[in-house]
Amino acid sequence: MKLDFTAEELAFRDEVRAFLKDALPGDLRQKMIDREHLDKADTVRWQRILNARGWAVTHWPVQYGGQNWTPAQRYIFQEEMALAHAPEGSPFNVNMIGPVLCRYGTDAQKENFLAATANIDIWWCQGFSEPGAGSDLASLKTIAIRDGDDYVLNGQKIWTTQAQHADWMFGLFRTDNSGRKQQGITFLLLDMKTPGITVRPIETIDGGHDANEVFFDDVRVPVGNVVGEEGKGWDVAKHLLGSERSGIARIGLSKERLSQLRVLERRLAGDGTLTQEEQLRLAYKLAEVEVELRALELTQLRVVAADAHGGGANAAASILKVKGTEMQQRMTELVTELAGPAGLAVTDHDHHGGDLDTGWLGAAAPFYFTMRKVSIFGGSNEVQKNIIAKTMLGL
Ligand SMILES: Cc1cc2nc3c(=O)[nH]c(=O)nc-3n(C[C@H](O)[C@H](O)[C@H](O)COP(=O)(O)OP(=O)(O)OC[C@H]3O[C@@H](n4cnc5c(N)ncnc54)[C@H](O)[C@@H]3O)c2cc1C
Repeated sequence: MKLDFTAEELAFRDEVRAFLKDALPGDLRQKMIDREHLDKADTVRWQRILNARGWAVTHWPVQYGGQNWTPAQRYIFQEEMALAHAPEGSPFNVNMIGPVLCRYGTDAQKENFLAATANIDIWWCQGFSEPGAGSDLASLKTIAIRDGDDYVLNGQKIWTTQAQHADWMFGLFRTDNSGRKQQGITFLLLDMKTPGITVRPIETIDGGHDANEVFFDDVRVPVGNVVGEEGKGWDVAKHLLGSERSGIARIGLSKERLSQLRVLERRLAGDGTLTQEEQLRLAYKLAEVEVELRALELTQLRVVAADAHGGGANAAASILKVKGTEMQQRMTELVTELAGPAGLAVTDHDHHGGDLDTGWLGAAAPFYFTMRKVSIFGGSNEVQKNIIAKTMLGL
């Protein structure tokens, strides 16, 4: 199978490139280059620019704002976004609750939430994981007991990213304990301003605050906020968790990191920091990473091509997730190694500036730490390997 892009696809790539050159605000781009934490306002600003162009929720059905792009177009778009140092929109809005509501939402839910979700007029968080229910999500215990036209919620979620900013949560709650643990789970939407909700921060190893514990104490949620049917939330959750194959490996991001490493390599070679032998060792390491990245890219293109022909292996997304996140982590290891003590200065604003300047080095250590999470969330890599073993290797 030929893996080259067609002339139309290359023209599309030029269109995306031109748009990003014009539309991406310089300060956001610089924040991305410098690995600075994007705040809520940054994400909202960028998603609204994309939404105005019709490119915020491209994979949603066309009637709700999607673009009906081919898998190759999606791949090109994601790749160009990363290479241009463009932030991603809110994954909770764009990749999770939006597609779920398009498929399972009532007319009222679609009317109330979809346009606002695409434009981030509503900021969503995901209330799935609980203490003791992460990989084994179906063991969740937070209960929702029917009382008239409401459910009454009691229990706790954990690791809820961005809950401190969220207007609404989509989550899984237990409405029945009698059958198999996958049964009796209900998918609910809840307004975070409802009395009885407490959000408590979890400080992560990079010193950031993205994750939270969320407690529910007699929280009343109208029955109209069930998505799908009561007790059938597991099916809705599976639809949500079935991540998109194209883009899950975030190869564009790793390529952009590699180009930064190349800048650093040239600088270290030029200023005599490294001996000739050390230069050779570094060149070897970077070549090794580049080859692996290229192989991963070809694997991803093969998945894209198979998708376009309606085929493809079920475990492809798991393979891309495992290898893609390993590569993302490998990049942070190399940057940290090369940065040396400079990587420990959390953020040195005086060094920021030039296009591919090395000011981003100051964020090497916190970035190394924060990227440990990519092999845990979205289904841990060990669990992905179980899926590969079962569905591909028949073990
Ligand atoms: C930074 C961060 C942000 C997150 N954001 C959110 C969020 O917004 N919303 C949300 O709902 N959740 C979120 N999560 C939770 C995330 O989905 C879970 O952490 C993840 O599913 C793992 O669950 P756990 O932490 O309970 O670990 P466990 O499931 O207890 O796993 C512990 C270890 O055992 C391994 N393991 C578990 N089961 C198996 C198995 N069957 N075979 C082999 N190995 C196994 C795991 O790979 C892991 O290494 C976030 C997590 C992190 C770290």
